[in-house]
Amino acid sequence: MSKTIAETTGSFRLMRRFLVLLLPAFLIVSVLGLYSTQKFAVGDERNSVVARVGNIAARSASAISKLPQNSTQANQESILALLLSDRAVSCVVLMDENGKDLASAPARVGCKGVVKAETLNIPLSKPLRGTLCVKYNLAELQARTDLFSVLSLVSLLIGLLAATAASWYSFSSIVGKPVKALLHAIQQTQLVGKPVRVEDAPNDEMGTVIRAFNNLQSHIEDQTARNAEALRRIDYVYNETPALMFSMSHEGQFQTASGHWLEATGYSREEMLGQPIGNFLTSATSTPLSNILTTIASSTEPLRDLPFSLRCKDGTTLDVLMAVVPDLDTQQTGHLCVLSDISGLKAAQNKLRNQAITDHLTGLPNRQGLFETLSELHNICPKVKADCAMLFIDLDNFKTVNDTLGHDAGDQLLCAASKRLQNCISSKDYLARLGGDEFAIVLYGLRSARDAEVVANRIVAAFANPFRLDGQLANVGTSIGIAQFSDSENSDDILRLADLAMYKSKQSGKNCISHYSNDLTAKVVTRDLMVRRIRDALANNHFTFYLQPIVDLQGMKAVGAEALLRLNCPNDGLIAPAEIIRTAEECGLIDQITAWTLAEAFNVADKNRELFADGQRYLSVNLSPKNVTPSALGLMIERLHANPTVAKSLVFEITETALFSNAEEISKVMQSIRDTGARIALDDFGTGFSSLGHLHRFPVDIIKIDRSFVQGLTADNADAQRRRALIKATSAMAADLQMKIVAEGIEDLASAEFLRDLGISYGQGYLFSAAQPLSIMAPWLQSFSKAQLQKHNKVVPLKPVVRSA
Ligand code: C2E
Ligand code: MG
Ligand code: MG
Repeated sequence: MSKTIAETTGSFRLMRRFLVLLLPAFLIVSVLGLYSTQKFAVGDERNSVVARVGNIAARSASAISKLPQNSTQANQESILALLLSDRAVSCVVLMDENGKDLASAPARVGCKGVVKAETLNIPLSKPLRGTLCVKYNLAELQARTDLFSVLSLVSLLIGLLAATAASWYSFSSIVGKPVKALLHAIQQTQLVGKPVRVEDAPNDEMGTVIRAFNNLQSHIEDQTARNAEALRRIDYVYNETPALMFSMSHEGQFQTASGHWLEATGYSREEMLGQPIGNFLTSATSTPLSNILTTIASSTEPLRDLPFSLRCKDGTTLDVLMAVVPDLDTQQTGHLCVLSDISGLKAAQNKLRNQAITDHLTGLPNRQGLFETLSELHNICPKVKADCAMLFIDLDNFKTVNDTLGHDAGDQLLCAASKRLQNCISSKDYLARLGGDEFAIVLYGLRSARDAEVVANRIVAAFANPFRLDGQLANVGTSIGIAQFSDSENSDDILRLADLAMYKSKQSGKNCISHYSNDLTAKVVTRDLMVRRIRDALANNHFTFYLQPIVDLQGMKAVGAEALLRLNCPNDGLIAPAEIIRTAEECGLIDQITAWTLAEAFNVADKNRELFADGQRYLSVNLSPKNVTPSALGLMIERLHANPTVAKSLVFEITETALFSNAEEISKVMQSIRDTGARIALDDFGTGFSSLGHLHRFPVDIIKIDRSFVQGLTADNADAQRRRALIKATSAMAADLQMKIVAEGIEDLASAEFLRDLGISYGQGYLFSAAQPLSIMAPWLQSFSKAQLQKHNKVVPLKPVVRSA
């Protein structure tokens, strides 16, 4: 553009064109004008010369006619000579009829030698017949014509020059100057980069053009200002919006980037502009850039949520989701890409995931983590998998430590145990805490099945030394189950198999190792059968209570009965409660069983007031430790409040071990039971490492000494002696706290009397009666007496009709 303007200015092309058009026209018009002027002027001159010559010739002819007949030649020649006075007349000859010269002028010469002349012949009639021949020439006229031509040419040239100069001047001042000013303004506009106006506008058409130009410049200036403002705003928005934006060429190179993008990645504009985006992606970007570019190229709609992982300048990773507005029309603006930073989200997700798969006490992976590892094992090659084994580890006596030394000590023990386990395995093996005191280890790269046993033995040995917890020593062993991955098709199932093997270790006396074998599965089948039976019994009311009497050892009188659960299975007969309760607690059915027992106990007490009302006898019912909670007992407590008579006849048996899981809450629940008028019995006392010193903390009315303490009590050995001492101490303590004691499992009279002598109030056992249906037990309770006992001397207990599941 600027070159064109310079060229135009330098060559005066416009002026030349103007002159090329103007001057020939001027020349033609001038020449034609001069020519016609000359033509008319010469014609007029000639006519006047001819008329003048003709006039004087006619007068000469007339004069000659008037001469007498005898006039001489001289007279005639004098008249002819007069003709020569006219400068145009060259010669005159007077001829007779025969053409003979009579006189001439100049005399005697006549017209001899005169060639270039016009001839005028005037005929003469009288008296002289003949012709007057006058020759004249137009030389004078020619000279004047030539002069006229010369003068015309000169004036033409002068006119031409003047016209050229005038044209030049007027063009320069009228057109050239304004055009120059316009060009200058345009050049300046280009140079300065902003519209420049022309100052002076003449009052003519060029002025109109200049004013229009200036208006246009003003308009452009306004528009430019508006565009600049709009651009500034866009720039502000682009850079200040807290969004990671950039544009990408069709080939995948950075074209622009927002300030926020630069800030977030740490790169400068120079470092990224023009660079392939692929250079900035981490290997975590799952979709190759080429695929993404193909997707963008084939899309007419904006794309969303393309996952990217950008490498920042400081080496950190920025996880983003990219939205792309494809550049459909031009190749210049590129695809607009907006990134959503999901690093925080991902970090939070990872944190959550880590939390979800981590055991927070020990920092080990938890059950979920183990399952994820096992599902990964699904995909590894069977050969590698065949060299793996699963160890299921359960700590022996952990519960005892927890109950006796407290939860903090229990937590310390679990942490220390996890460290000992970790020390027994290699770095490639995988240790997880499944919950409670259960751990699992996946052993990799075993050369033989024996290798797993070697590790298991190492673990058993590592636990041989006691743990020191808050200054106290705690002995905790391990029961370990081993399952080879080859034992199961399914990796998920391997844990169950190892668990089964671990149970075998538990049953074998703890602190030992067992391998999984197919027969263990049969036990699981048995358990599954039990679960089915429980569900069936709950649905079809197959549960029932058998009552076992509780006897006052002093007066040998029935003071109560314990309601013991039985499952009356249509196919298998009566099933004892221990297995039912254990299975129900494991598989979450215990709540429903407790609800049934509570309702049934209430009904039995309510409907058999002749047996249990008025403080005569009480009916005791067992509570699972898992159900000593406000939610499980809320309804029952309400009913008892509403029926104080029934409440007074009921005793709730809570196992001693339940007290230590959450002493404060359990104590509150126990108190709320007592508030109804019902009483609390502490069941199986002596099995839970009970501390007599803690007894006063709980609102207990009756202590039931466990059968294992009672049986063989009269023997003469250290163990019996120790148990006797404990019973004595308990008896003294109970007396102080105004609690009654029931000794369980009394099978012979000697034991009964011995216990009575130790101060034990009540007894329960086959000596008196095994548990019987209410229909049998009701009359029994009413009729039982010391006499009846002495009569038999030894009570033959009714055969327990329960068989083990
Ligand atoms: P427990 O509460 O200590 O009940 C006493 C258990 O000892 C009963 O076993 C009873 O039959 C048995 N027994 C009583 N006298 C003698 C004896 O002289 N010699 C021998 N060898 N055993 C005797 P059972 O009925 O099999 O109940 C076992 C346990 O099941 C109960 O122990 C109790 O903890 C639990 N249980 C029973 N019914 C229920 C119930 O309704 N709910 C809950 N949660 N647990 C129950
Ligand atoms: Mg009991
Ligand atoms: Mg008991």
